[in-house]
Amino acid sequence: MSSVTVQVPAKVNVQLSVGPLRDDGYHDLVNVFHAVSIFDEVVAKESDSITVSVVGEWADQVPVDDGNLAIQAARALAKHAGRTYGAHLVIEKSIPVAGGMAGGSADAAGALVACNELWGLGLPFEDLLEIAGDLGSDVPFSLMGGTAIGTGRGEQLSELATGGVFHWVFAVAEGGLSTADVYAQCDRLREAEGAEVPWPQVDDALLAALRTGDAPTLGARLANDLQPAALSLRPELAHTLEAGRAAGALGVIVSGSGPTCAFLASDADHAGHLATTLSQLPSCRTALAAHGPVPGPRPS
Ligand code: ATP
Repeated sequence: MSSVTVQVPAKVNVQLSVGPLRDDGYHDLVNVFHAVSIFDEVVAKESDSITVSVVGEWADQVPVDDGNLAIQAARALAKHAGRTYGAHLVIEKSIPVAGGMAGGSADAAGALVACNELWGLGLPFEDLLEIAGDLGSDVPFSLMGGTAIGTGRGEQLSELATGGVFHWVFAVAEGGLSTADVYAQCDRLREAEGAEVPWPQVDDALLAALRTGDAPTLGARLANDLQPAALSLRPELAHTLEAGRAAGALGVIVSGSGPTCAFLASDADHAGHLATTLSQLPSCRTALAAHGPVPGPRPS
């Protein structure tokens, strides 16, 4: 086999509850992940060493050195297999970079699946999941796709069966936000407030809405504890969220650490209208309609 291609979806967190800051600098999370139909493509081609090139709209914002998460993933896989392998990875980026949609994690998950196939390793999914967990807390979900509840730092996952299809619009902002900066801002805001931070709990009403395909209830239950921090760093996002509400979105939320904003639509037509409205905002670089859940990367 001389090349393997996989498509890897972006994610939105339909619930992101952030517990108190732990002594090790992390937070305990309850994270309900949902994979949506905005895909990066990862192609792994035969090569002597592990290298990467990036094409597409966001290419100039992605490192092509050892900082690239797809390179780190391919190296970790080769190490796990106990051999020296090579692959040239070509990433076609459609997932906004530093947008709170786990684009880097998606590319890492894509590299694991594509290289497992290219190198004929045949490692089971559970092994890939273990390697993914060491690469970053969002990588296991990027590998799994669908909808899942993550606990711990987000890496302990259980799959959730959902009913039907949910229609979304993603308003992509100009420029990214660093996930670490948003968590640090969240801690600062909480410290200034002085209130006790509750232990994160799964929202059973939100899970029931996902299971039954109840979009209005899901829209009403969307929750993201990082949203105040993202809004304080990028106040113009409040206008983006408000414009979506005014255009009849069933729910509006900052996606993960932002600055991408997610809007739940009632159907595909409504998503198209919302995307047209939001794309005209000065705070919006582009608006993308998508649906979820979609599966994780599989070799084709
Ligand atoms: P998350 O939602 O998981 O917090 P994000 O979507 O906000 O992440 P990413 O797009 O994953 O952010 O990128 C975060 C940073 O990671 C980027 O600024 C970039 O420098 C670096 N990075 C490394 N590898 C990649 C990659 N393959 N694609 C995108 N960014 C990458």
